[in-house]
Amino acid sequence: MVKKDYYEVLGVSRNASSEEIKRAYRRLAIKYHPDKNLDNKKKAEEKFKEAAEAYEILSNPEKRQRYDKFGHSGVRESGSGSGMNMEDIFANFGDIFADAFGEGFSSFGFGKSTRHRTIKGSDLRIRVKLTLEEIANGIEKKVKVKRMKVADGVKFKTCTSCNGTGQITRVTNTILGKMQTTSQCHICSGTGKNIENIPYGANKHGLIKEEELVNIKIPEGLTEGIQLKVSGKGNEAPFNGIPGDLIVLIEEIPHPKLKREGSNLHYDLYISFPDAILGASKEVPTINGKARIKIDPGTQSGKTLRLKNKGLPNIEGYGYGSLLIHVNVWTPKKINEEQRKFFEKMRKNENFLPHPGNYEKSFFDRVREMFS
Ligand SMILES: [Zn+2]
Repeated sequence: MVKKDYYEVLGVSRNASSEEIKRAYRRLAIKYHPDKNLDNKKKAEEKFKEAAEAYEILSNPEKRQRYDKFGHSGVRESGSGSGMNMEDIFANFGDIFADAFGEGFSSFGFGKSTRHRTIKGSDLRIRVKLTLEEIANGIEKKVKVKRMKVADGVKFKTCTSCNGTGQITRVTNTILGKMQTTSQCHICSGTGKNIENIPYGANKHGLIKEEELVNIKIPEGLTEGIQLKVSGKGNEAPFNGIPGDLIVLIEEIPHPKLKREGSNLHYDLYISFPDAILGASKEVPTINGKARIKIDPGTQSGKTLRLKNKGLPNIEGYGYGSLLIHVNVWTPKKINEEQRKFFEKMRKNENFLPHPGNYEKSFFDRVREMFS
């Protein structure tokens, strides 16, 4: 089927103003409104959708420009086009109808006398604290959640106000002729049902608060502040509605020794003066245990050693960060007389005089290197 030109559909010229376009659409929408064309509903609905699609493109300056330049192919990917259903149209262009038909004319109940409003239960939020080990490895946690649930023995009956349709239909006389307007039934809030009996302890919607153990799968590598969603584990909704979701806010318990920065971990290692001079083998904590590292003879304070893949899993799912070990040389505050004499002697010794060369990179150079 060849698509009609959008300007032709709305019956406006190619340089029509946005006001003209809106007016033209409104006129057509009223003319072809399916509720107004009960004897030829299908044909009218087709025309109605066609006009809505044209309006969707031409009322948007950016889409209109692309359409002017490239025709239908220029807007195909963005135009919901034939995929547009009546509810979309009412949702998107509701204001146009509000003007034309007055209050109470909404997408609700449009042409769907059997569709009820579905109620969604509210979301619940909890905080879950994780240790760095749990973050590194991922974990399954059972968490006690107090949820509103439909109480045992609750019964519903069909709403007598709307006969279970969830909507009230009124026919009114307007300048445009007989108009059928539909609005949500306020007795049953559009659900088509009312509660018949409320079990002991339940609220007026037949819901009761119950504690439940919810299993939460926590993937590895999360960071503080991330929210996980457990679908359907929020509060239940009355009238066979959809339960809300459980939103899990992740909090991180600081590690006593390791500091986290993204997927990297930092550890401050203190070594003695003799170890720095003579070299040593040292044990450092890792996220799941320990590791041994070698301190070279003549190691400067401030040197950073890197243990690759000993950090946390990357949140994007590839690889691991590093464990960065920052070496600090511990300078003793108290020394005895013999040691004092020794270091006095060494004060002028050539070997003890600092002379940082190119190979002793400055702190800033090292940091730059590490993150480049
Ligand atoms: Zn009702």
